[in-house]
Amino acid sequence: MDYAGKLSEALDALKSEGRYRVFADIVRHRGSFPRATFHGPSGEDEIVVWCSNDYLGMGQNELVTAAMHEAIDLVGAGSGGTRNISGTTHYHVELEEEIADLHQKEAALLFTSGYIANDATLSTLGRIFGDSLIISDELNHASMIEGIRRGGGPKRVWRHNDLEHLEELLQSVPLDHPKIVAFESVYSMDGDIAPIEAICDLAHKYGALTYLDEVHAVGLYGPRGGGIAERDGILDKVDIIEGTLAKGFGVMGGYIAASSAVVDVVRSYAPGFIFSTSLSPVLVAGVLASVRHLKSSNVERERHQERATKLRRMLLDVGLPVMMCESHIVPVMVKDAVLCKQVADDLLSDHKIYVQPINYPTVPRGTERLRFTPCPLHTDEMMDDLVRALDAVWTRHNIKRAA
Ligand SMILES: *Cc1c(COP(=O)(O)O)cnc(C)c1O
Repeated sequence: MDYAGKLSEALDALKSEGRYRVFADIVRHRGSFPRATFHGPSGEDEIVVWCSNDYLGMGQNELVTAAMHEAIDLVGAGSGGTRNISGTTHYHVELEEEIADLHQKEAALLFTSGYIANDATLSTLGRIFGDSLIISDELNHASMIEGIRRGGGPKRVWRHNDLEHLEELLQSVPLDHPKIVAFESVYSMDGDIAPIEAICDLAHKYGALTYLDEVHAVGLYGPRGGGIAERDGILDKVDIIEGTLAKGFGVMGGYIAASSAVVDVVRSYAPGFIFSTSLSPVLVAGVLASVRHLKSSNVERERHQERATKLRRMLLDVGLPVMMCESHIVPVMVKDAVLCKQVADDLLSDHKIYVQPINYPTVPRGTERLRFTPCPLHTDEMMDDLVRALDAVWTRHNIKRAA
């Protein structure tokens, strides 16, 4: 076996399609984010980050960093084990209570990431409910797809946010057959929002459980940061809510919030939960501060929406092809993989602006784009700079503008 040859063949396949990923090596600066230092081929450069999922800048919030300093001084760096073997600290217990309250559920369970939360929960429920049918929105995140696949049961994919198609699939098995409808609230690439209430009502009409990934909404929407379901006043219609602690909350980790029975089953059966060391109490302390702060403060959420709306309008004013949506995501369409990468490279090298090109398979071919995530810490001046730079790059490469 020519191992080396096989490995380089696999990489060459990606390179020839323009899908080979190169990571940007950056250092964020506490207190001056979204400014950061980029470590590039020609040395260091000061840049502005426009593609962070630390949507509210909570990873830079002084309450959060202070709580983490305090925790490391009190209890040290790591948790020391799995939840079963000495890795359940009082911080973990408190955070699970805080999250259950945030989503008005009986219980919550922490995971080391949102990815693991989706993978562990969906695969476990799939196995527990036997041959349950999982109905999955076609744009669901890779972590849900992987969890459903590993559950091993039957799966049907429903056309994105299409209620008629969903109903058709719900009717395809008997009413008393176990079913789970899995979907997201805010879809992070197009920035559109699912009709959660209508989906849940339909699912429940056919006796299905509802599983909602609110990763791009928790902390950001709802009067206490409970996500779109909280904003819409329908938390009770969602049976299982899954979220991350790494995006809106700015630190790291993932969770589910649901009935005590669901949480107890996942806690007891999911290998991805059971056999992995729990989150560091330092991280959990930071998340606790973040969740508690965002339960009572709307300042960050309001400024976040204001920044996104303003940036969208500024880009439209110069004719850039912004995809309109009702959330905080600002996608600008390039519609060509190689060009998309080129535009991002130019923005970084010539304008000190960092935005990651989004290509297949993250989005369908022909819909390649730049995905901007303005945060409360982006200033008017940074937005002016961004629009000027994009305008120049669009002209240089003669890229299509909005009608
Ligand atoms: C980022 C993401 C996840 C995974 O969350 P992590 O905490 O980053 O592992 C899950 N679902 C969606 C929709 C995501 O975008």
